[in-house]
Amino acid sequence: MYNNYFMPTRIISGSGCIGAFAAELMPFGKTAMLVTGAASAKKNGSLDDITAALKKNGQNFFIYDKVKSNPTVPCVYDGGAAAKRGGADFIIAAGGGSPMDAAKVMALLACRDIPESELFSGNYGNRALPVIAVPTTAGTGSEVTQYAIITNDNAETKTIIATPLIFPKIAFLDEKYLTGLSHDTMINTVIDALSHAIEGMLSVRAGVVSDTLASSAAKIIISSCGDLEKGSLTKEQYAGLLYASTLAGMVISNTGTTVVHAMGYSLTYYKDISHGRANGLLLGRYIEYVRDKAPALCARVCAAAGLKDEKELKIKLASLLGKPEQLTDAEISHYSEKAAVTANVKNGIIPISQSGIETIFRDSMTQT
Ligand SMILES: [Zn+2]
Repeated sequence: MYNNYFMPTRIISGSGCIGAFAAELMPFGKTAMLVTGAASAKKNGSLDDITAALKKNGQNFFIYDKVKSNPTVPCVYDGGAAAKRGGADFIIAAGGGSPMDAAKVMALLACRDIPESELFSGNYGNRALPVIAVPTTAGTGSEVTQYAIITNDNAETKTIIATPLIFPKIAFLDEKYLTGLSHDTMINTVIDALSHAIEGMLSVRAGVVSDTLASSAAKIIISSCGDLEKGSLTKEQYAGLLYASTLAGMVISNTGTTVVHAMGYSLTYYKDISHGRANGLLLGRYIEYVRDKAPALCARVCAAAGLKDEKELKIKLASLLGKPEQLTDAEISHYSEKAAVTANVKNGIIPISQSGIETIFRDSMTQT
């Protein structure tokens, strides 16, 4: 039995960490492109902290703030061109998964002319601009992964770009950027992190390191669920949840995700359900599926997550997420067909067929 775990991202955490560790940005060059959404990085203070650090270092910067939720192919090409035009030596992304994922692809496109038809080909050459990541939600884990998830209109889904070239060089974790998030965003993003931890333990690529990280991440999240639901998180809990989401990102960087994410992509693409919520709506029923096929595995994963059993997970998710959106039979069969052929499905320890996927969709999203 071998173990093989890889993580090249430096992780710096703590309130005010960007200012305290500004010198870490010096080796990356003279000019940075800062990638953000339209407003959140300005509101939560991350943009001010980054620009202050760059000014202190005497480094130049310019801002690309046009990334929207679920970034598109035109967006990443636009940002890649902006990085080239502005002579960016490196990119700093501040935000949730959307700005970080978009920035990673811009970092590739700034170094290589990739035709749109080959963007998802896996052929990315050997160079990307260095990316520094500043997560301002506690969910995606993108600050420590080699993945960028981009909306792929040709395939009508979200498609993963994966290459070690886009592992961020540094992740700065400062919990103060999270404190102004809306109640729903906080819940949805934390549930994404929980899904990463649990799916990571149910991946064929799970190993002793990823399982240890996943167990820590899930326990932190499970122990905060009550306060998360009430909206009464303390500063320490915000810091804990941000740390947990990074741990869960470290899990999936090595394990990948499974059928839950594959199913969730259609809910986001066609129904505009946020990524974390989409996973959360399906995760409770999926863990029951695992229980039915492999009860010992299910019990081990639940215990590692700090749960009594799979029922407790289902109850916690239902009370955080409220009433699920409803799917029609036609939608269920369309989304199941798409999910069944993804690499994520083959990545699960427990095999699942298209009809198994349909059952999970139906049981999760057709209740009255
Ligand atoms: Zn995810």
